[in-house]
Amino acid sequence: SNLLLKVENLKKYFPIHKGTFGTKSGDVKAVDDVSFDVYEGETLGIVGESGCGKSTTGRAILRLHEPTDGKVTFDGMELTSLSKGQMRKARRNIQMVFQDPYASLNPRHTIEKILEEPLIVHGIGKAKERKQLVYDYLEIVGLSPYHAKRYPHQFSGGQRQRIGIARALMTNPKLIIADEPVSALDVSIQAQVLNLMQKLQNDLNLTYIFIAHDLGVVRHISDRVGVMYLGRMVELADSESLYETPLHPYTQALLSAVPIPDPTYQREQILLAGDIPSPRNPPQGCTFHTRCPFAMDVCKVVTPSFKEVKNGHSVACHLHNEVQQ
Ligand code: SF4
Ligand code: MG
Repeated sequence: SNLLLKVENLKKYFPIHKGTFGTKSGDVKAVDDVSFDVYEGETLGIVGESGCGKSTTGRAILRLHEPTDGKVTFDGMELTSLSKGQMRKARRNIQMVFQDPYASLNPRHTIEKILEEPLIVHGIGKAKERKQLVYDYLEIVGLSPYHAKRYPHQFSGGQRQRIGIARALMTNPKLIIADEPVSALDVSIQAQVLNLMQKLQNDLNLTYIFIAHDLGVVRHISDRVGVMYLGRMVELADSESLYETPLHPYTQALLSAVPIPDPTYQREQILLAGDIPSPRNPPQGCTFHTRCPFAMDVCKVVTPSFKEVKNGHSVACHLHNEVQQ
């Protein structure tokens, strides 16, 4: 299928100022040289623990965080070279759904006003048409037009996330970047929202980047999954390969913690030593070497490059790549 989004060598560094937190000046490399493609109609899951740079990657694509370096091309248009005004226009086609719908919905505005806002921002429709679109999209996400005059606090968490999804859909985007859209919801509600997102994807021909901290959540919704660790993409593959034959030791450890529904199938849990190192001061070489059960001498010195090792399956690990000395 067609390439919709190309992310090349994306970097987002946040400066640390001298003296802050007792550190010397330098950069936190929140996103460090991340590259991936997203194809039309697919869902790409991006998974990693908190602080791995997955949210920052999503925001840097939209230039809500201005990238430090790298190139993002969406639908043939190079987003990273657009002016601020052009970028605002381009956001009509790429929308975000946030983790906490309550925090992202203005509590003083009615649902109608919240959903109408993106239409006004992008100059879509006359007042009457906009109102109709609001009612239409409320129905599309499974709410009643009768809810339009209510305020966010009058809805449950799951309903609020439906409103967050409706808001993202208002401008008829091609790509939705959903940043942990179900993490704040009860498990039973999570499934409903995931089902809704899958239905909307089919009905409206949407492409998703689905960010999560848990491989279990993205398994069924994702065509491909990328795993991030300390600002880098360490593995990317189609879902089946990633879940059946994970290559990176970090992915293997994450997967070993995901419960398997089939009790006849046993998987030994891999416990990682220690916590994630601070992104202010990441380890040299492979940033995972301080926790990796397979770390070799070379891992402490040489950063493994992210390379395709099988058809569509890429990994950054010296176990799978020849080290170029
Ligand atoms: Fe482990 Fe070395 Fe592979 Fe890093 S490069 S994941 S430390 S084996
Ligand atoms: Mg996050």
